[in-house]
Amino acid sequence: MPLFADVALAVPLDMAFTYAIPPGMEPVVGGRVLVPFRQQRMSGIVVELHDREPKVKTKKVIEALDLSPVLDEQLLKLGQWIADYYLAPVGEVFRTMLPLSAEFKRSITYRITDQGQMALHLAGMSGSSARSQRTPEDQLVEFRVLDYLAERGGAQETRLRSATHVSKTLLMGMVRKKWIAREDVSSARDATRTVKVAVLLAAEASPPLDGPEARPHTKIQKLNDNQRTLIDSLTAAGGRVPVEALRALDVPRTTLTTLVRRGLIELVDEPQDFTVSKFKPRPSPFNFEFSVPQKEALAKILEGVGSRKFTGMLLHGVTGSGKTAVYLVAMREVLEQGRSSILLVPEIGLTPAMAADLIQVFGDEVAILHSGLSDDERAEQWHRIKRGEARVVVGTRSAVFAPVSDLALLIVDEEQDSSYKQEETPRYHARDVAVMRAKMAGAAVVLGSATPSLESYYNAKKHKYALLELPDRVEQRPLPEVEILDMRQEFQETGQEQVISRKLAEEIRVRLEKKEQVMVLLNRRGYSPVALCRACGQTLQCKNCAVSMTHHKREHKMECHYCGFVAPIPRKCAQCGSEYVYFVGTGSEKLEELLHGMFPQARIGRLDRDTVRGREDFERALNALNEGELDMLVGTQMIAKGHDVHGVTLVGVVGADTALGLPDFRAAERTFQLLTQVAGRAGRGNSPGKVVLQTYFPDHYAVQFAAHHNFAGFYDKELQFRSWMHYPPYSAIANVIVRSEKLDEALAWSGELGRWFEKTRHEGIRVLGPAAAPISRLKRDYRYHFILKSPSREKMNTLLRSMLAEAAVRKIPRTQIIVDVDAVWLM
Ligand SMILES: [Zn+2]
Ligand SMILES: [Zn+2]
Repeated sequence: MPLFADVALAVPLDMAFTYAIPPGMEPVVGGRVLVPFRQQRMSGIVVELHDREPKVKTKKVIEALDLSPVLDEQLLKLGQWIADYYLAPVGEVFRTMLPLSAEFKRSITYRITDQGQMALHLAGMSGSSARSQRTPEDQLVEFRVLDYLAERGGAQETRLRSATHVSKTLLMGMVRKKWIAREDVSSARDATRTVKVAVLLAAEASPPLDGPEARPHTKIQKLNDNQRTLIDSLTAAGGRVPVEALRALDVPRTTLTTLVRRGLIELVDEPQDFTVSKFKPRPSPFNFEFSVPQKEALAKILEGVGSRKFTGMLLHGVTGSGKTAVYLVAMREVLEQGRSSILLVPEIGLTPAMAADLIQVFGDEVAILHSGLSDDERAEQWHRIKRGEARVVVGTRSAVFAPVSDLALLIVDEEQDSSYKQEETPRYHARDVAVMRAKMAGAAVVLGSATPSLESYYNAKKHKYALLELPDRVEQRPLPEVEILDMRQEFQETGQEQVISRKLAEEIRVRLEKKEQVMVLLNRRGYSPVALCRACGQTLQCKNCAVSMTHHKREHKMECHYCGFVAPIPRKCAQCGSEYVYFVGTGSEKLEELLHGMFPQARIGRLDRDTVRGREDFERALNALNEGELDMLVGTQMIAKGHDVHGVTLVGVVGADTALGLPDFRAAERTFQLLTQVAGRAGRGNSPGKVVLQTYFPDHYAVQFAAHHNFAGFYDKELQFRSWMHYPPYSAIANVIVRSEKLDEALAWSGELGRWFEKTRHEGIRVLGPAAAPISRLKRDYRYHFILKSPSREKMNTLLRSMLAEAAVRKIPRTQIIVDVDAVWLM
């Protein structure tokens, strides 16, 4: 056995740590080990086993947690690629790839020391009044902690903190004073959840315990009523029933124990079944004939799968062209070949209805991974996939790491969706990771979209991917007619700012009269986005972020949409004390109210993050629309994504163009995508659809091309702009944010790095900044940023790596520098 193990730990350091392997222990590469790190125990992934003696003294591995790798060779390689490409610590990448935190519970406990006892004793001598009145607040809390621990001997951190309201800082201070001791008793938990099952032993299989004369049947005759009830129930259920279920019988618990002792029943541990979804299946999604382009796309995908070589494909299909059906048939084919596939969907695309479809098509062979799963459930699914019980995996972003074997097909639906980019370390883009994984596995990858990202479409045009097109809607349904409504003109003609134009109001009225359904999009939640003082012109800002707080009328509060901070509704201006505080602008809550006022008879529902707490709420609102229980649905971009509601014949778009004013080079692309997606909700049934698009930018190319369903036109124009400005796909881009709660620190650090960039050679790389980030303060942090652009990703990443090394030398904490490679948001 090798002497040393290099272990990747989930800490913000770009390195692996070497530990000595105690004799007799056999860790494996790609398996987890428990190791001491600073004052704690942590689990990490073994990346290498070797005999090279390190220069510094090593600590020992405490425990090898896995006998076989949890990350196979390919996933280890993929993780290392991610660490390298996104400049993320490899241990943090592995933690993201492995949803097994449920198996490893950290438990930190505190106990009182002799010194602590003494401190408590001395304080007691000086009288309780001294403790409660004259000591400062912190000291009071300290004694509360000592009291609590003295009474119990020790306590878990979580319990101690909730009982005494002590801060982490204060606790650490007490540890330093040696009043209390901190112990980390982390341990691995049993990997699979099991359930106790009672098994009725057959007469032959159960040798009588007390002599040959005591045959089981004679025992049964001696049963009392309770025992008979239990045995009868077990017999009726086929001889195996979970113990938990037997509790429902009205018999004392001791009855079961007695029967076990008498050898009539045996208790065994069995893996617990995992129920994926409680929803009833719907009619099969395959109830229609494939169109010629659908058949061609399917054939190409299966050809790619069959080649067992990397094949990249972009499936560009207009809204309503039946992409999902193509995915499902391809995946079923892959499953029939005994191979595996993964389908990635944006968060909002994974509704219970879709889950029900998947279960209907794939039965037990599908594993569904979504954000609503508990840690335990996530781990359970992971093991099912790893054991090969589920060869079809459907899930959001992190499902790209599903441990399937013999991966044949990876599909990324709505590949342009920004939810595929993780906005915390590691900041990977699941679409790009999917492409890399497919390359490593020799698999086919399909990126699907009605509005492909510029990057993917560019790659297809450059023949890096094959382009598969579905140009028509299913059953020859026409794309909706789009009317652009110039809101500047509306203002001139009516003399006031309108939320709903006269034209849109009229169109809505007509549809409601015809009993047709309407959707209205306003991509901003809350009642009013701005609280403005008319006396001094100040707006109410979040105390943690440099953004306006949004008025929420029904919940009677002001809320920051960036950090979640909530404040009461201001009666006076905080700046000048004036009472003239006005709420300006319109959000989806106000839009709903306005529409209620205009169409009092209409049944109106609203879909946004205030009304949708979970996937079920989302599904319920869409079902209500589908079942005709609603006449109108208003909401944010949630209503624009991928659902198929046949009764909607009119889509109104209100203020979807505000993004065009943002300082973000993807604003036009995002607006085009949103407009196309929401327009795609109209006319999916038998009646043709119409879209009324209200805008203050009627001539903007994003608006114009979306209105004419002209993806290629938009793409050409936008590409030209990207090329002039050296933005993706022509340049790799990285956003580097330097942040601190202290303004002078953020300034000093970004200044130091700015000077370092200036005097460092970086040919072929543009460095912009430092400049205040567009959102200059966020979640208490002041933020300055640099933007790096380069046609050579390799050069850019090399420069970024030296910058991080320089920052380490200058003692700028790694956590205060965000390096966002391929940044999706530049705010
Ligand atoms: Zn004021
Ligand atoms: Zn905030």
